[in-house]
Amino acid sequence: ATTGSGSAGSLRPIDFDAIGGQQVAKRELKEALDFLRKSDEAAHLGIRPLKGILLVGPPGTGKTLMARAAASYTQSVFLAASGSQFVEMYAGVGAQRIRHIFNQARRQAEQEGRSSAIIFIDEMEVLGGKRGKHASHLEYDQTLNELLVQMDGIAPSERVRLLVIGATNRPDLLDSALLRPGRFDRTVRVDLPDKEGRRHILEIHAQGKPLAPDVDLDELARETYGFSGAHLESLLNEAAILAMRQGDRQIGGRHLREAVDKVLMGEKLDRRPSE
Ligand code: ATP
Repeated sequence: ATTGSGSAGSLRPIDFDAIGGQQVAKRELKEALDFLRKSDEAAHLGIRPLKGILLVGPPGTGKTLMARAAASYTQSVFLAASGSQFVEMYAGVGAQRIRHIFNQARRQAEQEGRSSAIIFIDEMEVLGGKRGKHASHLEYDQTLNELLVQMDGIAPSERVRLLVIGATNRPDLLDSALLRPGRFDRTVRVDLPDKEGRRHILEIHAQGKPLAPDVDLDELARETYGFSGAHLESLLNEAAILAMRQGDRQIGGRHLREAVDKVLMGEKLDRRPSE
């Protein structure tokens, strides 16, 4: 969910209410962010400023949404990049991009008169994999080292407070240096939604879609065990497309059942090449 190659994209901030389910993750993330919101109090008590939060969980569960909500919650400037954007053939380019995004975050916050900036890095395992394990390991290592240098360089006295939010579905691949105190020292799990969560996500994405009276979202939530938020969003969209194709003005139970099969099938096809 990021833009362009090389430079960081900005995504529209959203509210935590736009995220379905994930009650525990939302609470934990907000608690961590309160240190940023009340940084004066935290400093008074001698609490070390929080520099990094790692969101861990399967694809499509709302990690990017969480990071965007974190930015509105703290009224921070928000910059987003993907780990793969830092991986380049030429030595030093990745490290340079890391420096660039940190500088960009500080500059943009100053320009907009904000006291904090959040840098979101998706696919952390690509940039933050264990050092010395890659074929072209020198370049990867330089990039990761630069990220560590930049995070260590975040000072409590700065006018703009920086926070890095990383997301990954493979925390086991991360270099342990990233997880040391003062770096990504908080981890928030963003798992597949449970039935209640799926129901909530379905409600959010059903907004603005005319559902037929026979549609029962509770039942649909029960039948979509294992679906991520992204799957559920896609399910409702597919059902709407089917309704349109069949000339119906409302989305009915049969469109939804057909769409469930379609999403399940697409999932199998998607998985084949990589697993
Ligand atoms: P990836 O690891 O693939 O980057 P992610 O965990 O960052 O995935 P998002 O990009 O946040 O997932 O979610 C993709 C889309 O799926 C969202 O734009 C939204 O439409 C939908 N979605 C996912 N989770 C939720 C949720 N909890 N509530 C509402 N919508 C969701």
